[in-house]
Amino acid sequence: LHLHIPEDICSRLIQLESVGSTNEFAREIANEAENWTVVIAEVQTAGRGRLGRKWFSPSGGVWMSIILKPRVTPSEAFRYTMAGSVAVCRALRDLYGLDARTKWPNDVLVNGRKICGVLTEISAELDVINYMIIGIGINANMSASSLPEEWNATTIYEELHREVPRGELVAKVLEEMRALLESGDLYHQWVRLSDTLNRRVRVKGFDEVTGIAESLDPDGALVVRKDDGGIVRILAGDCIHLRPD
Ligand code: ADP
Repeated sequence: LHLHIPEDICSRLIQLESVGSTNEFAREIANEAENWTVVIAEVQTAGRGRLGRKWFSPSGGVWMSIILKPRVTPSEAFRYTMAGSVAVCRALRDLYGLDARTKWPNDVLVNGRKICGVLTEISAELDVINYMIIGIGINANMSASSLPEEWNATTIYEELHREVPRGELVAKVLEEMRALLESGDLYHQWVRLSDTLNRRVRVKGFDEVTGIAESLDPDGALVVRKDDGGIVRILAGDCIHLRPD
């Protein structure tokens, strides 16, 4: 893989042809790696979603992991997932005019169909983060028919009917992410871009919760007003499944 990406966009860029999972590769080098080391692969043979689910990662997509070493506590970690998904939305909007929105907690949708997933993994001891890995998978130059119908997925190619230069996309996502993490506006943008807010949701987790997604908290929690009137706060990590009813 050899995407054209400006060198100053990250501290180190590793481009691979094929890897099990970029998050896994990143984890192996994370202790020694510099902040903002980025790993990108043409193909992932064992790409992962949340909770051990599989992430289909054929050639043509953008499969990347960013190693971050911020001095924050684990409770502040969701901000980085937020920055990842908002950065992808902004990139898809600015570069291609797509109406990209976030699906709580970690996906990006275009016209209600999943185009990107963000998977954050953290290594922490007590209240100190050693490193964080933000995995971002974008369905870019691949046909949507390569993805099972029931996943309700889409790709940039499917939306635009043309291939896009992936280097430009990667650079834009990284640029936006850095800017968002420095701006005071990240949470508000995340709320504004939400496709989940005010919708009816069914969240399968420890218990199953059905109701209206009423608000999103700065720490990443989704607040649901249940059908019986009760309010529950669901943390991103608690969620196993989120579907319209
Ligand atoms: P969820 O959307 O349920 O939170 P994850 O973010 O953990 O799921 O992603 C894993 C799920 O996403 C898989 O079980 C599959 O349904 C779907 N999926 C896998 N690969 C892709 C892909 N390239 N594009 C869109 N959806 C995918």
